[in-house]
Amino acid sequence: MADNSTPTISAGKLHSKVTIVTGGASGIGEATARRFANHGARAVVIADVQDEKGREVAASIGLHRCAYVHCDVSDEAQVKSLVDHTVRTYGRLDVMFSNAGTASESEQTVLDLDISALDRLFAVSTRGMAACVKHAARAMVEGGIRGSVVCTASTFGRLGSDKLTDYTMSKHAVVGLVRSASLQLGKYGIRVNAVSPGPIMTPMLRKVFGEGPGVEKLVDAMVSLKGGGRLAAESVADAVVFLGSDESEFVTGHDLAVDGGFIQQQLEIR
Ligand code: NAD
Repeated sequence: MADNSTPTISAGKLHSKVTIVTGGASGIGEATARRFANHGARAVVIADVQDEKGREVAASIGLHRCAYVHCDVSDEAQVKSLVDHTVRTYGRLDVMFSNAGTASESEQTVLDLDISALDRLFAVSTRGMAACVKHAARAMVEGGIRGSVVCTASTFGRLGSDKLTDYTMSKHAVVGLVRSASLQLGKYGIRVNAVSPGPIMTPMLRKVFGEGPGVEKLVDAMVSLKGGGRLAAESVADAVVFLGSDESEFVTGHDLAVDGGFIQQQLEIR
């Protein structure tokens, strides 16, 4: 007989997996670190530059399973030592969620693009992602682990932007990284995917759109899917749990938009 019961997210999708979440002190990373722990991860290593906040998040998840490590992803040596520390402490690395990123310092068209600001943004959001993919993949290959790497791209990894030129460039690069790495690492059984959030209420989005009651309304107007909790970081976290878990064992090189229809709506308008 068919099972018509309402599907629920079962506990334990990440049972016994050792995971890293970069940018885990806030927003999408924090929500994902919490979801990873709820889904039975053996270890969740939060890496960030906001030390106080990162330690608080780790402590609230439970220090027996969650640790905080200071890591500036723009520094490859720090990324390598984050991965080495994780493997030394927990014996392996199964899932890398490379998520740390920064917003554009200011809105700029290509006519007034600040190339130094572009370098600063790329250092974190593109070079940092590449360092995380590289060192996670090396640890997985060396350990014989059929692991999963998930990178946070953006809907601006698929669309052009009228003002956020450097951010849009950096996210297109992340999608290129994911596609290339998935091709190269498939022979080791390592999967590499991207998740592309639409507008999600986090400190980063508030930095771009400002604070105040009007912000949610403004953001709501950008997506076609009305109602529900789609603006929450947890929507993205659930997609990352799927991509990190064995439920997606035949999914690689994919860019999963979690955007409430933002991309379709933008394409329609344009
Ligand atoms: P957030 O600001 O809440 O979190 C970003 C985290 O990254 C912070 O904890 C920050 O300290 C950390 N970080 C910044 N620079 C770092 C560095 N050099 N090394 C290590 N950690 C660093 O923002 P968020 O919205 O949760 O963003 C997470 C990711 O999602 C980013 O890659 C962002 O580009 C992407 N994204 C967000 C949205 C959105 O609407 N919020 C949309 C699309 C994509």
